Amino acid sequence: MRIECIAIGTELLTTRRLDTNSVWLGERLARLGLAFHRKTAVGDNREDLAELFREALKRSDLILATGGLGPTFDDFTKELFAEILGAELVEDAGSRADMLAFYAARNRVPPQVNFKQALIPVGAEPLRNPVGTAPGVWWEDPPGHPGVRIVLLPGVPREMKRMWEEQVEPRLRPLAGPATHTLRMVVAGVPESTLDERTREVRERHGHLDWSILASLTQVELLVRSEDPAALEAVLSDLKPVLGGDLAAVGEANLEEAVLQALRARGETLAVAESMTGGLLAARLTAIPGASQAFLGGATVYTLGAKAALLDLDPAWLGRVGTVSEVCATALAEATRQRLGATWALGLCGNAGPEAEGEAPVGAVFIALAGPEGTQVRALRLAGDRGDIQLRSAAAALDNLRRSIIARP
Ligand code: AMP
Ligand code: MG
Repeated sequence: MRIECIAIGTELLTTRRLDTNSVWLGERLARLGLAFHRKTAVGDNREDLAELFREALKRSDLILATGGLGPTFDDFTKELFAEILGAELVEDAGSRADMLAFYAARNRVPPQVNFKQALIPVGAEPLRNPVGTAPGVWWEDPPGHPGVRIVLLPGVPREMKRMWEEQVEPRLRPLAGPATHTLRMVVAGVPESTLDERTREVRERHGHLDWSILASLTQVELLVRSEDPAALEAVLSDLKPVLGGDLAAVGEANLEEAVLQALRARGETLAVAESMTGGLLAARLTAIPGASQAFLGGATVYTLGAKAALLDLDPAWLGRVGTVSEVCATALAEATRQRLGATWALGLCGNAGPEAEGEAPVGAVFIALAGPEGTQVRALRLAGDRGDIQLRSAAAALDNLRRSIIARP
């Protein structure tokens, strides 16, 4: 079944609003073992919309459109579909009654423009809107297009979701396919192209499955989809030896969750002292519920004065060794580990830019990890703008820690 999504609204083409409806609908379809083959966002423009509707009617079996069902002049999804299909619009008594009741419950008289919302194309079924005034439309076998189904839902996410759950999903369930399962693997510290090469043989061995590689600033995700969970198990056991310690997480977890899990499993704890990441590392860790079982806390020591005062370091000495240096990172990590009595402590300092800072060029970053076997420091030269360097530093620090935790017996 070819399923097409059409997100309607000029606001979706600017930066005013994100099209979250199609993302949500895509997730719901996946639960039914269904998927979009195409999705489009289109503005409130009659010509663009009409052209898209005509194309969609030719190429798709199920058309899911959201938006443009409101009462105002820029809402005409229903009218346009009816016009293209040569169907008349008739008032649906139930939809009219719902609309009147909606206004009566709020002690208001419906504005005249709202009555057009009760109009439904002949041959289509109204979908009631229990939380708003715009009914949706379920239209099976529209004129000239046997086998096609058109579903029109309001753009307001709260209304769209409720109507999908109560009225659309039950109608689609008989058409559902077998559910698709996804194996997600997070790989850290390996460039996308290297990962491509290293996994080629396994991907070819399981070539009938649906593979993708998704790179971001700080990690690479390897995704494999199949209807057969056993096939995914086999992929995972083939990839584990290939990826080794570079495989940071499997499933929904991200790097910080993987680190917290590893710490918790060993009964170990972590503290951080952050200079140019400004608390980013702590924020990422505390975004995970239950982080306090392993993450104790730490300090944002952005200036030399803060480093000296909060971690009891000699300011004159810090000035001499430099606040962007291996020695400084080491001192941050060791002082924090000692103060909080943590198993591990990370100390981060560097220059995130945009200007060089004395001797330290933009992107110079030092990450120290103090642990039960002493302290190790890494010097990195990271690329990107200020935000990129901060994100990359935090990710590198987490990955450093993760590798050190799992390396210990
Ligand atoms: P409409 O049904 O076109 O009147 O849409 C009403 C409101 O729903 C819009 O102002 C948007 O804020 C929101 N909306 C419409 N389409 C979407 C979409 N695809 N994703 C998220 N929100 C949307
Ligand atoms: Mg709109």
